[in-house]
Amino acid sequence: MEEKNLKISIAHLYPKLLNLYGDLGNIITLTKRCQWRGIEVEFEQINIGDSIKNHDLYFIGGGQDKQQEEVAQELFSNRAELIAQRDDGAVFLGICGGYQLFGHYYQPHDKDKLNGISLMDAYTVAGKKRFIGNVTVETDFLTPKTLVGFENHSGLTYLEGDTKPLGKVVVGNGNNSKDGFEGGRFKNVFGTYLHGSLLPKNPHFADYLISLALEKRYGEKIELTKLDDSIEVQTHNSLIGKTY
Ligand code: GLN
Repeated sequence: MEEKNLKISIAHLYPKLLNLYGDLGNIITLTKRCQWRGIEVEFEQINIGDSIKNHDLYFIGGGQDKQQEEVAQELFSNRAELIAQRDDGAVFLGICGGYQLFGHYYQPHDKDKLNGISLMDAYTVAGKKRFIGNVTVETDFLTPKTLVGFENHSGLTYLEGDTKPLGKVVVGNGNNSKDGFEGGRFKNVFGTYLHGSLLPKNPHFADYLISLALEKRYGEKIELTKLDDSIEVQTHNSLIGKTY
C-alpha cells in the first residue's frame, strides 16, 4: 500500500497533567515521521472529562504522584474501553507515571493505592530512592538493539505473567534496579521509564510503533520508507553507555 494513501489516528492522553521532561516530543516524533512519509495523522488530545474514542495509537506521559492521582481515576473509568482497544491491537506507549498506570496499581509513599488499568500484568510501589540519570537498554526486538533515555522515578515496577520487559538494563536502574530489566510490553502495549523525550533519539522504536499501528488499522504489515536519520542516529549513538 502506498504510504500517501494511509492514515493513522493518535490520541494523547491527559497531556495537561502528564507531560514531564518533554514527553510531548514523542507525539511530535510520531506525527512528523508519518507526515514525512505522506501518511496522514488524525490527532486527538484527551483531557479530563473527555470520552476516549477508537485510535490506532495512544500515548501517555509521566508526572508527579499528584497528577497521577487525578489521571488514575479518569483512566480507571475508561478501563474497559482501553482494554478492548488493547485486545483489538491498538498500540499504547506510556512513559514513567503513565507506564505505572498501565499496570494493576501504583502504591505511592504515603497515600492510598492508585488503581491502574491492567493493560499489562505489572504493579508499582514507591521506593525510598529516586533514580535519576541516563539509561541504556538492550532489546531483543529492535534494530539497532539499543534504546537510550533519561530516568527520574522513585517507583519500582515489577512485571508478572506474560508481560515481557523492553530489554536488559546496560546503564541505569530501569524498572526496579534489582531484576536488571527496563520497561514492559504486553501485546502492543509498551511502557518505559525513559523520558527525554524517548522517541526523537530512538527513531527505530518510533517507526516500530508506527508500523504496528498501521498493521492494526489496515490488517497487514506495511514497509515504511527509510528516512534520513543521520542526526537522530548520531544522537542515539552518542548516548549509548552514557553514565553521567
Ligand atoms: N511519580 C512517579 C515516580 O516518581 C512517576 C514519576 C515520573 O513520571 N517521572 O515514580
